[in-house]
Amino acid sequence: MLLLGKNIANSLLQTYQKTLLTLPRSPHLVAILIGDHPASHTYVAMKEKACTQVGMRSSVIKLEASISLLTLLQRIDQLNEDPLVDGILIQLPLPPHLDPTLVMQHLDPSKDVDGFHPLNMGKLLLGQSDGFVPCTPLGIQTLLNESKISLAGQHVVIVGRSSIVGKPLAALLVQKHPQANATVTLAHSHSRNLFELTATADVLVAALGHPRFIKAHAVKQGAVVIDVGITREQGKLVGDVDFEEVAPKCRAITPVPGGVGPMTVAMLVHNTLVSCQRRCKNY
Ligand code: NDP
Repeated sequence: MLLLGKNIANSLLQTYQKTLLTLPRSPHLVAILIGDHPASHTYVAMKEKACTQVGMRSSVIKLEASISLLTLLQRIDQLNEDPLVDGILIQLPLPPHLDPTLVMQHLDPSKDVDGFHPLNMGKLLLGQSDGFVPCTPLGIQTLLNESKISLAGQHVVIVGRSSIVGKPLAALLVQKHPQANATVTLAHSHSRNLFELTATADVLVAALGHPRFIKAHAVKQGAVVIDVGITREQGKLVGDVDFEEVAPKCRAITPVPGGVGPMTVAMLVHNTLVSCQRRCKNY
């Protein structure tokens, strides 16, 4: 089975569009784009397009790569205080002189729709549902759930322990929750016998950023494989899984592109919608 995140994301966006019509005002997402990183421009444009598709307000604030930390934090303060802003996303990576941890900590956690603020990460770890779950992990869980693939009791092996994918995904899938309840192994570049580990996975998630790294020998027959990786090679997007080799062994697999990427974008819309719902309730 091909797990077409693109189709699932589109149908979710239609549902969000209907929910949005029930709100007293349109949710508003503000993206901060610093410098001239070409991939960042592409990602922000995709997010803006998804917002437009559901009729959600979105704005992009473009700032010079040379912006000082103080000026950036002041700009974030203004957005934190604006009652008509529901979500603030700071597109990563930041220029080297800006510490992403410091910048993320400055966001109002109730507007941190990317879920990177330590408070939201802590809530995720504790299983508290009033925070925001980072979009890629939430997108993967939603993709599996919508595809009727249960995680309960399954051995999930995640390759890659970044703070935006691997670590929050492990925290999410290990929760005592009907859409989780997995047994999770989180692997990284220091893991011994990596392919022996991956070959025990019922659900294998590749999130390391090395194109076609996961070959057929690293995958159990009948496994579900989720490819998070996105690398641009000669203008084409390539995943971390060698799709041609691995797909015949799988029960289900995501393509790249059209798998996890669109789910990530849809979850940003979801989180912004939730933020607006919470904000409207509080007035
Ligand atoms: P990072 O570079 O932040 O993290 C990579 C992780 O992979 C690290 O934990 C690293 O281990 C681990 N790793 C690297 N090499 C190996 C190896 N040989 N064996 C085992 N583990 C290894 O990457 P991100 O998490 O930010 O992104 C990963 C990929 O996912 C990228 O291709 C990125 O473009 C893509 N991505 C896709 C998204 C989507 O929506 N589809 C969203 C976000 C990212 P260590 O910690 O030891 O260094």
